[in-house]
Amino acid sequence: MPDAKKPRILIFDDSEVERLYLEALLISEFDIVTANTLIDFWALLAEEPPDLILLDVRLAELSGFALCTQLKHNSEYAAIPVIFVTALDKSDDIELGFDVGGHDYVTKPVMQRELKARIRAALRIKQLEHELRQRAITDYLTGAYNRRYFFEVVEGNISYAFRMRRNLCIAMLDIDFFKKVNDNYGHEAGDAVLQHFTRTIRDQIRKYDILARYGGEEFVIQFFDCTIKKSLEFLRRIRDALAASPCIHENHTIHYTFSSGVASLEEVSTDSPINAMIDIADKRLYIAKNTGRNKDISEG
Ligand code: GH3
Ligand code: MG
Ligand code: MG
Repeated sequence: MPDAKKPRILIFDDSEVERLYLEALLISEFDIVTANTLIDFWALLAEEPPDLILLDVRLAELSGFALCTQLKHNSEYAAIPVIFVTALDKSDDIELGFDVGGHDYVTKPVMQRELKARIRAALRIKQLEHELRQRAITDYLTGAYNRRYFFEVVEGNISYAFRMRRNLCIAMLDIDFFKKVNDNYGHEAGDAVLQHFTRTIRDQIRKYDILARYGGEEFVIQFFDCTIKKSLEFLRRIRDALAASPCIHENHTIHYTFSSGVASLEEVSTDSPINAMIDIADKRLYIAKNTGRNKDISEG
């Protein structure tokens, strides 16, 4: 197996002997990177977050417990399991290790097979936590984010956008005459169209835009750092892509269109900008539906 497939483990210990020893124990099964100073440690984390961290407790610059506390308060790194590897074997230390968010606590001398097994167990739990989290934030049928996650992440982005004087836009999209797809081709075909719509949108928007299923056949997109004009270009591209590659389901080629309403953060100034934007986008979507469908409305 190529090294890239191995779980990446970051060892932070300021004793070179200990680092080399741990690395030698684990190198056959894991991709190892090592740090001996705090600067190295944070640089390695930023470069490529590891799957797991092995952390010494008695470090020259600060205690491993304090460092673990910092990691657990950092949303980017909080999910990385930390295993303390230390000579401190008093109950007080072990208890503190768990209390600061450590996943496991291994005392020296370290047994190779035991350490490897503990690492594998930590990685399994991390994977399960990741899957649970994904399930909690995505829509089961389409894999798009769900409405709850949309609000969570867009609220954060709006605060950021206000602070950094950036703009963002929200588009509400609703498939036209979707009920007819179900009526003409069956509910499964309707599901296939919802999945096809999700894929088509994803292919056209940027990585940092957020797509969520808002309900039934209604979707919402957050275009970050974006003007209304640019959002309309993305919507145009989605429309062109749907026309060029319609949904194919069990020998049927299902052509469909959507209508949308777009709102910009610049238009709202309330305590609850996300709800204000959704309201405006919804109102414009309604106008699009009532004036012929298959169009995007960004005014009125
Ligand atoms: P309009 O152009 O005005 O939006 O008409 P429409 O037919 O798209 O809208 P309407 O609200 O009348 O119908 C939406 C339909 O979507 C009704 C509902 O049964 C169907 N639907 C909602 N969720 C799902 C789903 O998960 N799968 C399938 N197959 N259909 C769904
Ligand atoms: Mg519809
Ligand atoms: Mg609808």
